[in-house]
This record gives sequence, structure tokens and C-alpha cells, in this order.
Amino acid sequence: MKITVSVIKADVGGIGGHTRPSDGLINAVRNVVKNAGDLLIDHYIGYCGDDVHIVMSHTHGIDNNKIHKLAWDAFMAGTQVAKKEGLYGAGQDLLKDSFSGNVKGMGPGVAEMEFEERPNEAFTVFAADKTEPGAFNYPIYRMFVDSLSNTGLIVNKSLSSGVKINVMDVEEGKIAELSLWEDKPTLEAALMYPGRYVVSTVTTKEGEPILAASTDRLHNIAGTYVGKDDPILLVRTQKNFPATEEVGSVFNNPHYVAGNTRGSHNMPLMPVKLNSAASINFCIPIVEALVFSMHDGKLVGPFDGFSTPDWDYIREIATKKAIVMRSQGFIHPATLVPSELEYAEGYRARMDVLETKMKPIEKDPSEGQKKENYEDPD
Ligand SMILES: [Mg+2]
Repeated sequence: MKITVSVIKADVGGIGGHTRPSDGLINAVRNVVKNAGDLLIDHYIGYCGDDVHIVMSHTHGIDNNKIHKLAWDAFMAGTQVAKKEGLYGAGQDLLKDSFSGNVKGMGPGVAEMEFEERPNEAFTVFAADKTEPGAFNYPIYRMFVDSLSNTGLIVNKSLSSGVKINVMDVEEGKIAELSLWEDKPTLEAALMYPGRYVVSTVTTKEGEPILAASTDRLHNIAGTYVGKDDPILLVRTQKNFPATEEVGSVFNNPHYVAGNTRGSHNMPLMPVKLNSAASINFCIPIVEALVFSMHDGKLVGPFDGFSTPDWDYIREIATKKAIVMRSQGFIHPATLVPSELEYAEGYRARMDVLETKMKPIEKDPSEGQKKENYEDPD
């Protein structure tokens, strides 16, 4: 049976800032999705920081107008409540006034896959907040390329023969299909700069889908800062794919990602429990793991992937790394490069003032003379 799993997420308002959606907002989203009739087989709704995610199983394929409209309508209903409650950033990820066939390019993030369901289908959704799509470059590399992180790349027949990885240039809106293992160094060069090149999909060599990620960058769509393009990732696990533990464990080294308060800093990506608020300690970038089983499109779960005691230790590492980096204040590399700063206008305003104060450096008149008189000591 061919099933499509669609995960669509958006930030349409947070309590007192960019923390988490209100219960009223979540209920409004839930009511719309719940009343979708037989459009969906099953669904789950939760949040990561200020982003609400809707996980849907159905038989209508990817980029389906009705599925996307359902999510759009649900986020619109959430926005109405957010406005009524005075939540911060009400409707901030809904960049257009009306729905036009597909939520891609309209603000919400989308990750979806259509596949022939296995008898015991397993997949994990990773939802992140206060960061950008490139935050997944390092964990995806560890899943599919780094056998020191994933022994399955040695002992699993399908994984050891390599996968196809589509890399998107989010600045130019282009995509390249890279194939392992022959394209390994090219892939590494692309993943080096997560602000521009991000993984969009991974398939087996035979074309079976394993991974889909949201890749939209909100400021590319809106042309200005509208909040961080917090990404979502959908990964099928077990059998010919990485084990669930092999996709979870790649988040056990909280690597630095672009994000944080005002989208201005490089900070560690901290694995957190399901439905966690963003921290008001500069809102450290966070990621949740929603582990699902599925049969005939019916979902069981999510199991909270980062809820076991070992992840408390990882959270402590992330907190320490966050304090170390943030203690450097605004001095780069704690801060992002100017082109990646979300509040670029404010930065440019300061630099314009600096420019007006800039004067040419007066040359020392004897400088040329000295050179002419210079004699080589040899
Ligand atoms: Mg967010």
C-alpha cells in the first residue's frame, strides 16, 4: 500500500515571545485537522519551541493541494486565536494572504515522502527550532557517510553500497544529485557551508525514499527578516535504512548551528523532549525526535526519542557549549557573518555610520624614498 507521510510546520505565535504556542492556538489547529473527514488516515500534532508541526498520513501523494490547504487552514485558525490572545508573532510564518495550491514558498516548512509501506514501517521526525535547514547537514552526514558514527554503513548491504543525496543551493534555488561513494568529497565541500547548501532528500541507489527535509528559507521568500526558518526532517529507519538508534545518536554531539535569539549567533543544537518550549536563556537551538511506527497508514507514537536519561547528559554538554560561545558576546565567530545575520538592516545602519566616519589613511611621505634607498643585505 502506497502511503504518503506529510509533515508541515509553522510558527504562528508564541507566549510572551518566541517560546511556545498557547494551548488555545494548538487546539484551534487540532480542530481543523480533526475535522478533515476521510482526507487523512491519521495525524499527530505537537510543537517544538514556537513551531507547531502537523504529521499526516494519507494516500494523496506529495505536494497535494488538499493536504497543503488543510495545513494552511489549520495554521490560519491558529493565527486567529494567536491574534485574539495577543501572542507574539501571530501568523508570522504565513507570508501570503490566501492559499494558492501549495504551502511551499508561502512560509510553512514541508517535509514529505510517498513510499510503499513496509509491514512494520518505522520513521522518525526531527523538529528543530531557533535554527535553519543547514542545521541538519552534520547529523545527516553522520547518518549516511560517516561509518565511525554509523556502523550500519559497513555491515548493512543497502547502506554500504551508498545512497543518493540531493543537495539544494538555497540561495540560487538549484539542486544537485550526488551519489555515494564517488561524490563524497563534493558532498563534503557542499555541506561545509550550511547557510547555502542543504540536504533536501536521500534515497537508496534504487530510488527508494529514506529522508526528506524542509529547505525553505523564509528570508529568501519574504526578502527580509521574518523569523528563523526552523527546519523539519523526516527519516525512515530499520531494515535497508539506518537503525532508529543510528539516526538518533547522530544528535549526541551538539554541534554549532546558526540561530539563537535574533538569528544572530552560532550556538549548539540541543536535543530536547517532545513539546518543549524554547529556552529564554538566549533560546538555544533545539531539536525533538518523534519516533513513529505505522501500519496501513495508522500511526503509533510518537515515542519521545530524546526522553531517556542519557540525553540529560547531552543537554548538559549543549548548555555548557552554549554558555562558552555566548560568553564571547558579539565577537565573531560567536556571531554569524554579516550576510547571514537576520537583523541585517540594523547591522547595516551601524556600518553606514562607521563608513561616514572613515577617512583615507595619510601616507608617510618618506615611504617611497625608503624603498628606493633600500639595499638588499645579500
Ligand atoms: Mg521557531
